Amino acid sequence: MSAQLIDGKAFAESLRQRVGEAARSFAQAAGRKAGLAVVLVGEDPASQVYVRSKHKATIDAGMESFEHRLPADTGEDALLALVDRLNRDPAVDGILVQLPLPGHLDEQTVISAINPDKDVDGFHIINAGRLSVGQDGFVPCTPLGCLMLLKDRLGDLSGLEAVVIGRSNIVGKPMAQLLTDANATVTIAHSRTKDLPGVVRRADIVVAAVGRPEMVKGDWIKPGATVIDVGINRLPPEPGREKGRLVGDVDFASAREVAGAITPVPGGVGPMTIAVLLRNALVAAHRNEGLAAPANL
Ligand code: NAD
Repeated sequence: MSAQLIDGKAFAESLRQRVGEAARSFAQAAGRKAGLAVVLVGEDPASQVYVRSKHKATIDAGMESFEHRLPADTGEDALLALVDRLNRDPAVDGILVQLPLPGHLDEQTVISAINPDKDVDGFHIINAGRLSVGQDGFVPCTPLGCLMLLKDRLGDLSGLEAVVIGRSNIVGKPMAQLLTDANATVTIAHSRTKDLPGVVRRADIVVAAVGRPEMVKGDWIKPGATVIDVGINRLPPEPGREKGRLVGDVDFASAREVAGAITPVPGGVGPMTIAVLLRNALVAAHRNEGLAAPANL
């Protein structure tokens, strides 16, 4: 039996539409547009693509986009001065510093300088703490997008066995926290896990965030499980495909024969990340103006 495809692209599109409608109502109520500032240091090609698409998506959603591009040799003092200026600018509701930063800049120092109430990426230690004790804050966009897809597909997650593969601060750990808060029984697997296939076989929900192409095989999957593939890996070029094929951390061909539902790569989790970023920025704007954000965001 072939699994149902979880269409992250369509879900992200509908979320972006809801954000767009809410952004219009916000502008009327607040007398200004919601604003998202994105800071890019250096010329990393992948980061340039991300920043360009974030800028376009922000404008498309009817929000103000403030782009700051700094040279690769920017010093820490200059970057922190910009973050400080954005923290104090009332037109800026959300601040995102595109990672990775050039090697001479300490990412933790820079993220810690962002006002946690404008930290729409949810990477500030205060927001990690808020998530862990169940207070309102900002949750990293990718795991929050995965949770939205899971709830849309499964409804109530209470009592389901979830296995998250990967324990990074931006995906694995917050994902496990969100699933725990949704009353799933959660296992975090990682590079030192013994018998990973056996652990994954227990799961009703598998979230793979490893960064290893097609590592999770179909015979690791419990029949009928829901599989969320966070991985984005580019395979080496092959004849007729100079750019190389884009694959996830799950071996899609074998997993789809066993799973109940699965996200494709591309078109699954990927499109959710920017949509959730816009959602977080709009929630920040409502909080900054003392307004209630719409419940459907
Ligand atoms: P990371 O490198 O920070 O973390 C990877 C994790 O996988 C680590 O915790 C490690 O313990 C675990 N791991 C490594 N090898 C393993 C193995 N053999 N068995 C079990 N666990 C193992 O990566 P990340 O930032 O969490 O990203 C993970 C993947 O998700 C990458 O492919 C990345 O490109 C992708 N990603 C996608 C989006 C998106 O928007 N869809 C966003 C962020 C990351």
